[in-house]
Amino acid sequence: MGIGGYSVLRQLGYGNVGTFHMDEGHSALLTLALIEEQLATGSGTSVTDEDIVAIRKRCVFTTHTPVPAGHDQFSKNLVERVLGGDRARLLESAGCYHDGSLNMTYLALRCSHYINGVAMRHGEVSRGMFPGYPISAITNGVHAVSWTAPAFRDLFDRHLEPWRRDNRYLRYAIGMPVDDIRRAHKATKRAMLAALKSRAGVQLDEKVFTVGFARRAAVYKRPELLFTDIERLKWIARHVGPLQIVYGGKAHPRDDEGKVTIQHIFAAAAALKGVISVVYVDNYDMQWGQILTSGVDLWLNTPKPPEEASGTSGMKAALNGVPSLSVLDGWWIEGCIEGVTGWAVGTDATSEPKAEAASLYAKLDSVILPMFYGRPNDYGRIMRFCIALNGAFFNTQRMLSQYISNAYSADCWGHWPTRIGNTQVAAGDKSSPPASRQSGMR
Ligand SMILES: *Cc1c(COP(=O)(O)O)cnc(C)c1O
Repeated sequence: MGIGGYSVLRQLGYGNVGTFHMDEGHSALLTLALIEEQLATGSGTSVTDEDIVAIRKRCVFTTHTPVPAGHDQFSKNLVERVLGGDRARLLESAGCYHDGSLNMTYLALRCSHYINGVAMRHGEVSRGMFPGYPISAITNGVHAVSWTAPAFRDLFDRHLEPWRRDNRYLRYAIGMPVDDIRRAHKATKRAMLAALKSRAGVQLDEKVFTVGFARRAAVYKRPELLFTDIERLKWIARHVGPLQIVYGGKAHPRDDEGKVTIQHIFAAAAALKGVISVVYVDNYDMQWGQILTSGVDLWLNTPKPPEEASGTSGMKAALNGVPSLSVLDGWWIEGCIEGVTGWAVGTDATSEPKAEAASLYAKLDSVILPMFYGRPNDYGRIMRFCIALNGAFFNTQRMLSQYISNAYSADCWGHWPTRIGNTQVAAGDKSSPPASRQSGMR
């Protein structure tokens, strides 16, 4: 991908790219193409520290996951077989092996001047995983127009006219009438119920509080946390207020543990039968993502901290005025204002499944359901805050402008230390900040 991407750009005539952005380690062999280019134009056969610094100036790297299996590494043998002996030797002479293997993350880290995680907490976690590297953070966002349901697009067109061109206008949702938001949500909920009827043959009740949980069925996402105590859940539905639940998500074909989590959901659904309706949407895709994130009354997320790098589905929900109830991890640490944009499961410091489940039930039965059924206008105000505070911020426009200001401008040379692990960092790094930084404001 990295080598091919580089030559595609060349073939298309983009010979003079200022900044290459490697999104995740998969494209890190781009650096090999740049090393070859550097050698062809410069000193000749062996890679010098100065060559690495020159490449570093042209590269930006975003790391995406705190889960170790997400960081590819390949044995020397495999590298030789796939890339050939010459390229394998070049990587070795450039100091690009880590502990004897080609680790795509370390390769990208070594060759980038700006490095970031995808939420503030993920930046912190990544600094712990890769000590010594100057890792910043830019929080992910979702494409606002694509993830806003038709009823809310119409509403925003009426009240926040330039919002499609400039998502920051969503901030002024704070002045929209709550009734309009509730009316738009009624339409998105109806659209979801109709879609569920035709897909799954189940008719859910429009008046009943509806919880949504849909994403890849990976173990760290813990879809079954809500079902920790089936009797408690039944008690809540009987005594506090009725609820119904929509699930969605498929497992990676080779992720057997992920598949087991789906079986657990089906078992729980059977155990809840007659008290709480649970619908499972199979073959969950982006179209269903849009239907569910906009149609439910509450978006649930219960990952195992700190494994959720960012998460994005809660951002989609926020654009449609749907509050989140979520474990404090990834973007939600930034997006959660308790009782304003949604609610937290547990606290930032705890991650004990029993305590988290207890907190989840307590929020449902003493805070969220009483408000939904007893004070619908208060619930409507929460929906409005979701759009004004979170929809206005956690979108792609804001994200991209942060990449432009922080990663792509000439002003963002990271603070590289002189030594990383056992490696002396290439000479010249410390003197590398561009003049604009040196003369800039303090
Ligand atoms: C948004 C989306 C996701 C990501 O969900 P998270 O809760 O952020 O993991 C996954 N799958 C589909 C189809 C989506 O639309």
